[in-house]
Amino acid sequence: MFVITCPYCGERDLSEFAYGGEAHIARPEWREDMSDAEWAEFLFMRTNPKGILAERWMHAAGCRRFFNMLRNTATDDILAVYRIGETPPKVEARLPATPSGEAPIGSGNDAVKIIQPGEGA
Ligand SMILES: [Zn+2]
Repeated sequence: MFVITCPYCGERDLSEFAYGGEAHIARPEWREDMSDAEWAEFLFMRTNPKGILAERWMHAAGCRRFFNMLRNTATDDILAVYRIGETPPKVEARLPATPSGEAPIGSGNDAVKIIQPGEGA
C-alpha cells in the first residue's frame, strides 16, 4: 500500500489521490507577440528530474483540495507535503544505492525491461 499524507486529512491510500503534474509552474504573462514555441514551452515542457520533484496532487476522494508534495522520483520517497501557497521545505534526497546506480525495487522503473542477448523481444 502506498500512503500519502494529505495536509488537511492525514494519511490516506494513494487510490484517493489524483496527480496534478509539476508544481510551481508559473503561467507566462500574455503578450501579443508570444510565439507558439513559447506557449508550447509553458504547456508541455517540464523538468522531469531523477531526484527531488515538487508535484501538485489533489485529494480527489477526500477533501478535494490541492496540495504540493516533494517526492524523490528515483525512490518514490515522499519527502514533504505542504499546502498551496506555502514555501517548499528544504530537504535532501536519498541517493539510489544499487551497484548500477539505479534505485532499488519501487523506483518506478518497472516498465523498463532489459532484454538480454538470446531472449525474444
Ligand atoms: Zn484531504
